[in-house]
Amino acid sequence: MENDNNSAEMANGFGTLLQATINHLEDLRRDGTKYLTVDPSLLAALTQKGSAKSLIPTPTPPPGDRVGLSLPKKAEVPTSKIEVPRPIDPPLIATGGTALMGEARAAAFAEIRERALQCVKCPHLVSTRKKVVFGTGDIHSPLLFVGEAPGADEDLAGEPFVGRAGELLTRIIQAMGKSRETVYIANILKCRPDTAGQSFGNRKPTPEEIQNCLPFLQAQIELIRPRAMVALGGTAMEGLFGKLEDGITKLRGRWREFQGIPVMPTYHPSYLLRNQLVSVKREVWEDMLQVLERLGEPISEKQRNFFR
Ligand code: SF4
Repeated sequence: MENDNNSAEMANGFGTLLQATINHLEDLRRDGTKYLTVDPSLLAALTQKGSAKSLIPTPTPPPGDRVGLSLPKKAEVPTSKIEVPRPIDPPLIATGGTALMGEARAAAFAEIRERALQCVKCPHLVSTRKKVVFGTGDIHSPLLFVGEAPGADEDLAGEPFVGRAGELLTRIIQAMGKSRETVYIANILKCRPDTAGQSFGNRKPTPEEIQNCLPFLQAQIELIRPRAMVALGGTAMEGLFGKLEDGITKLRGRWREFQGIPVMPTYHPSYLLRNQLVSVKREVWEDMLQVLERLGEPISEKQRNFFR
């Protein structure tokens, strides 16, 4: 019985590994890779009937075999080129320009989320992340907040903006007359940027990491189709628009457009934690008032006068 359980666990682990490999191959193909170098003996093993089974570790490893894998021995024969197989899953963004509603949107969102959870495109982040932080909130919301990347708290919780900066963002959202549950919150990067050699702190995502991960955010935007977006900080702006000529101090408060959706740049909440000037809080609040106006939502006199 114990051996059966071990077999089932190993099979599940194999399935996860296989799916991650398939996703990775699709990513390579999407990035323009046409050929891969593959060991011919491994290829032969994969094309044999029942090959998946043969690659699953056996419950009782044979003597002399360290992990009991039935993988073929490393070939001494030369490697050959094969064409990358056709993708099995549909492309990341598959709406074809049509808005998906209700359950169809939820199903498409769940599929993309699943792919993010299994994503191994940035191996150095995969090896250090605790959780993939996909996003949270209402996938039918007219308002989407875009942040930078998960920090240590978010990495642990698997949810964006849960630390001190997250609490502040929650208060800003509430001051707008909304809640975290009625907006959607996502980051440019879904995995925490590793900070090699230190157990705390954050670092800015690299352009390559942003490039790798952006399709997930693009898919989220494509599915949600918000009527307005808020880019929290300079890195979120760079993720959406590439390298910009100005810093967030100059960019904030002026609308931009991303895939036809108005984007309001403003300061990242962590900047507000470092800079407690009322005038800076007022700047962020004026940006949020513009967002409410763009959404056509009522603004009370009290709201208009916050931080005055
Ligand atoms: S950061 Fe994004 S692209 Fe990189 S491994 Fe995580 S989910 Fe994949």
